[in-house]
Amino acid sequence: MLHTMIQKAYSVLKTGVPVQEDVARELAKLSGEETLDLISLANKVKNRYCREIHTCSIVNAKSGVCSENCRFCAQSTHHHAEIDVYGLLDPEEVTQHAQKVYTSGIRRFGIVTSGHGYKRLDGEFQNILLTIDQLAQHFPDMNVCLSLGILSQETVKELAERNISHYNINLQVNPDRFAALIADTHDIYEKIETIQMLKASGIPVCCGGILGVGETMQDRVNLAFTLQQLDVDVIPLNVLVPIPGTPLEHQPPIPVTDIAKTFAIMRLVNPTKTIKFAAGRETVMKDFQGLLMLAGANGFLTGGYLTTRGRDIPQDKKFAAGLTAFSA
Ligand code: SF4
Repeated sequence: MLHTMIQKAYSVLKTGVPVQEDVARELAKLSGEETLDLISLANKVKNRYCREIHTCSIVNAKSGVCSENCRFCAQSTHHHAEIDVYGLLDPEEVTQHAQKVYTSGIRRFGIVTSGHGYKRLDGEFQNILLTIDQLAQHFPDMNVCLSLGILSQETVKELAERNISHYNINLQVNPDRFAALIADTHDIYEKIETIQMLKASGIPVCCGGILGVGETMQDRVNLAFTLQQLDVDVIPLNVLVPIPGTPLEHQPPIPVTDIAKTFAIMRLVNPTKTIKFAAGRETVMKDFQGLLMLAGANGFLTGGYLTTRGRDIPQDKKFAAGLTAFSA
């Protein structure tokens, strides 16, 4: 017999209307076999409202020397992680990376830069604009995404004049706990303001979070509803990969059941949105990555992450093909 809260949540499957917050908060307390029932419902909702699997690949176009102090991140100057450090790649270098992604058959490519963001039309931002224009010329059918941090009205306007597929900016956690769990060198409201400016300018937003940084299940429910209210278009979910030299290097992993519940609740709160599994899929979740892809996600990041490696694209293509068997 299904748990009463799961029975209630079945309304999402019939209507496409998200679960109410009180129901989501109760679902977050489920355990054992009930978690599998919840996963099964999330998979059904995904199959009905978001059937297609979306994959994308990124390039770290500027690495390290970041002024911000995000506790999970190897690129912050506040921490002591050993990573490659380099300034902004020029348009030719980014185009070479894009070529590799294009040749592998992936048609969504994200340019990611470290740092607080771009609020002025300075030389570095102009170089990024040149890169975007060059990619549009070389790969007219490639979806180009950006993740450049916090923006201003001025920089958003420049991006809105180009064909940007999605702009990624992650809230990471429950906004009320951002300063305690993630960073206190910048304010979560700068991110929210950037999202609102992007949406108002017609640029689709990719915005999600990271799991395993000390947040609770109820914090994750808060994040799910914040993303719903902001009407973001794509939701990437990362699982913390603890990196030596960062404050979270010894952070214990969270139970896989909690991650699965979070994915499922994210789907039931945002039934029609693309939900992607990003960092941590192969390295932290290992044997459980397939289970999590059946808990409501309909996409994933492939070909490696910013400062950690992932599986190669051909392996992931086979993985994606296997997943479709569960949506027939
Ligand atoms: S997540 Fe971005 S803003 Fe935060 S420390 Fe890393 S590069 Fe800087």
